[in-house]
Formats: sequence, structure tokens, C-alpha cells
Amino acid sequence: MAAVAFGVQSGWLKGRATVPCAASDNRKAGRSVRKGVVGETSADETMAPLVVDSSREFWERWEDDEPDRPREACGVFGLYAPGEDVARVTYFGLYALQHRGQESAGIATSDGSALHLHRQMGLVSQAFTEDDLATLPGHLAIGHTRYSTTGSSRIENAQPFVMTGTLGDFALAHNGNLTNTETLRARLLREGAPVETSSDSELIAHLLARASGATYVEKLRRVMPQLQGAYSLAILTPDAVIGVRDPHGIRPLAIGRVQDHWIIASETCAIETVGGEAVRDVSPGEVIVIANDGEDGLRAHTGMAPQNLAACLFEYIYFARPDSCISDRSLYLVRQRMGAQLAAEFPVAADIVIGVPDSATPAAAGYAAARSLPYADGLIKNRYIGRTFIQPDQRLRQLGVKMKFNALGAVLQGKRVVMIDDSVVRGTTVRPLVKLLRDAGAAEVHLGITSPPFRWPCYLGLDVAGRDQLIAARLSKVEDIAAEIGVDSLHYLSLDGLIAAIDLPRDTFCTGCFTGVYPMPVQMSQADRQSLERELAAGTGVS
Ligand code: SF4
Repeated sequence: MAAVAFGVQSGWLKGRATVPCAASDNRKAGRSVRKGVVGETSADETMAPLVVDSSREFWERWEDDEPDRPREACGVFGLYAPGEDVARVTYFGLYALQHRGQESAGIATSDGSALHLHRQMGLVSQAFTEDDLATLPGHLAIGHTRYSTTGSSRIENAQPFVMTGTLGDFALAHNGNLTNTETLRARLLREGAPVETSSDSELIAHLLARASGATYVEKLRRVMPQLQGAYSLAILTPDAVIGVRDPHGIRPLAIGRVQDHWIIASETCAIETVGGEAVRDVSPGEVIVIANDGEDGLRAHTGMAPQNLAACLFEYIYFARPDSCISDRSLYLVRQRMGAQLAAEFPVAADIVIGVPDSATPAAAGYAAARSLPYADGLIKNRYIGRTFIQPDQRLRQLGVKMKFNALGAVLQGKRVVMIDDSVVRGTTVRPLVKLLRDAGAAEVHLGITSPPFRWPCYLGLDVAGRDQLIAARLSKVEDIAAEIGVDSLHYLSLDGLIAAIDLPRDTFCTGCFTGVYPMPVQMSQADRQSLERELAAGTGVS
């Protein structure tokens, strides 16, 4: 098949897609692991490592201004598009999902008979060259960007995983975290499965490979009840792309179209980035099979009945891009409404409102509009700092957040400032930010957070600090947190205010990191469990 020039003949990337949800919401050094046809050895297996350090340790050190936010686990993308250069389209789809994972990236394609795979450590832009894309022929593809929450940051854990099962070769990409990983691993090992990595995603692939069934839908119906936790999957077989969302709907997964072709993606922004139009979310428990173009090309099946819906609130608060939509909600507008809710709860006297760029900008605009206060850019962010591979020397490292943010004295001088941010995890970033504002002349700094206190770990796909490092778990009084951060006052958006801003029923959300009550059993430490039991008995937690 001759590759079509991306975006030239096909209309990909042309025009502005209609966004259904916006209308309805007007309210490391790595090497190529397996390259070429699956099962064949490639000369590239011994490709010389790039001279970069993309180890997790490096990223955590370099992104030292980011650990105050939870980190997303992964992004998945898939499409069925005969006549298109599907590897190239997937590459750009992954580019739009880069915020969901920066450790590794991978693409698997199928030409109808054989699967082709390339995965590499690092950002999407580092993981693929033109030559790499040329080794990925076919008319259907899936892709993955990864941030490890289970499994270490090694090329072996990069996705998609390719496996041979009872129905032949398939590739699998996973966003989310299982909560029964150890049970599944022990059972698979007992049964003789060749488990090679520490990743829970590999376990799902082994289960799928070994499950009985004449079709992948039948296999998935046997596998899904065995999985506890969060999983949005993109699966590639030689002739189909399959999307799966766990029955709780914890992580997002959307369906889109461009021309006659079908796309699945973790977020609608990726669908629009490649010129497509978001159609709808994959429903909790649903299995989508795309095996052709056109209306009949996509078939929806029930993998499992939806149960105990538990969409991740942090997708709405911070993770997903503001130009994405989940559950027909524009995340930009949702975040503006979070700001407006915060304004009602936290009407502190102030001269200007600023947001911590970029994620808190919509909420800051919403707060300012609700209070008729001027919105200003008090902090300027260097958007490219996280993408350099030149490590800062000791002196530069000590500058901390200054490497990434600069405070605008001309805006802040003598002003009572309300700074809006979306979350505080450890408190290590916001404190130096507050100092930056004061050093730039702010007379007062008040901090409004568009989420409730983050007091419990996430077991469902986000990487956050251990409970002993969570500032809101260490310090029970908001005044004490304000004193540690160094602000004049502090307010966290209430859970009720947050839910009201999203405008969906409360019982459709996971609130685990705020309440300690998760939608399914989790492996909580004994100390945390005792502390939660005490809290629930005393009624002192976030409710
Ligand atoms: S615990 Fe928090 S971060 Fe984790 S899935 Fe639930 S709402 Fe999202």
C-alpha cells in the first residue's frame, strides 16, 4: 500500500471539527525493542542508544516543579483507515496525548496479516523518526504514551505489548491501573504464563491471549470480570481495532471519525488534532470493534454491564486537556465553572486574579469573571523547559521553579493577589511560587484550589506521593497548610462545589483521593486503613 501524504490528499488535519460536547455544554536512552514484522528479528534491535537520559529519576528531578500534581498514567490511540499512513496519523494522535505520559511511546500497525511494532523510551518526538514510521505499514494502528504507575520505567514495559494468543497475534495498549495485579500475576505465573515485565498491562495481554473464545469480544467477556481497577484499552488484531473501557468508566476513552474512518482515543483533543470529529465516549463496560470503514465498520458490544460508575474526578480537574470533552462536558468550561464555584466559596478581598499556568488558567478566568476582578498573567511559564535533555547544573537546579516560572513584577507590584491552582499534592511547588510572587512585589497572596484536599493515594492509574508526603494528610487544618505554604489565606473547593461545576451525578465519580473511599477494594496499608476507619467513625473526612 502506498502511503498517502499526511493531511494532503486525505483531508486529515483539515478544517475545524464540530465538537458535540461544546455545543451541549453551553452551559531515556532507549532502543527499539521490536521493529518490523512481529516475530522477526530486526537489525534495529541492536540500534545504538540515543545520547539522552530519559530515566524516570531524571524526569522526576527535572520536573521538580511538577510533583505537586498527580501524574497521569497513559494515553491510547487507535484508528482504522485504509488508504492512510496510519502510523503517521497515530504519531500525531499520540503527540496530542503527550501530557498523559512522557516516559515512552509506541505504535503497532497491521497490514491485514502481520503486526508491526516500534516502541521507544522518551517523548513521542524522540521515540519516532521518519525511518521508524516507514517500518510501520498497514491500514490500522494503535499507539500508546506511557507514564508508569505500576511497572518500572524500562523499555520492556513500554507499550503496546504484542502477544500471540489463541486467535493469533495482537497488540494491546492500556491506560489505567489494576487493583488486583498481584493476584493476577500469581495466578498467571502458576499457570505457566511467560510474564516478563512488572506491568499490569502485560497481565491483561496474557489473560486475553489465553482466554477461550471464538472472537475477541467473547475473549474479552471472559477477561473483563477478572480485572479489578481502571482500564481503557486499545487492542490491535490483524484486521480490527478494539476499544474497551472498564465497567466503572474510570479513565476516559472516546470514539471519533474522520471521513469514513473510525478513531478511538483517550481524549477528544487527539481526535481533533488529526482532523477528526468526536462522536461519543466509549461507555463503561463497552467493547468497540472497528473492522471496516463507514457506519457498519464500528460495532458496539457489551463486554460487561456498567457497575458502580466511578469516573476519575482528576480528569476533569487537571489531567485531560482543556480542549477535550468527557461525558459531553467541555473541560475548559467545566474548569471555568470550578473557578466560579471557588469564587462563591472564597470571596477574599483582592485586586487581581492569576492562575498557575497552564492548567489553572480556565479556572482563574472563571473565578475572576464571577467576582468581576481583573484577571492577569502574574506568572509566565517557560513551556519548553521540560523538553530539554541538557541537565541543569547544581546552581541552576537550586533555582527550582524559577527555571520554569517567572513572576511579572509589573503586574504584581503592591497588589492583593488571588492565585488559583488546580491541586496541591505535597506543597513543594506552590511554596516557592508564592515566594516568587512576594519577591515580585505582591502585597498579599491568597490561594484558591479547584479541588478538595488531596488526602489519600490514588490506586487507579495516577502517580502521587505516598500518604505521608501529602500535605493535606500531614496537616489536618487548612490554616496550618496555609502557614506551611506561606499564603495569607487558603481555600480548597468543596466536593459539592466541584461536582456542581461538572454537573453530573455525584455517584458517577470516584472520590478516593479526597475521601479515602474507593469504588473497589484497594491494597491500602494497614496504617492508612486504620486512619480511614477512625476518620469515618468521627465523620471528620471530606464528605
Ligand atoms: S482516587 Fe482520585 S485521582 Fe485516583 S481515580 Fe479516584 S478521583 Fe481519580
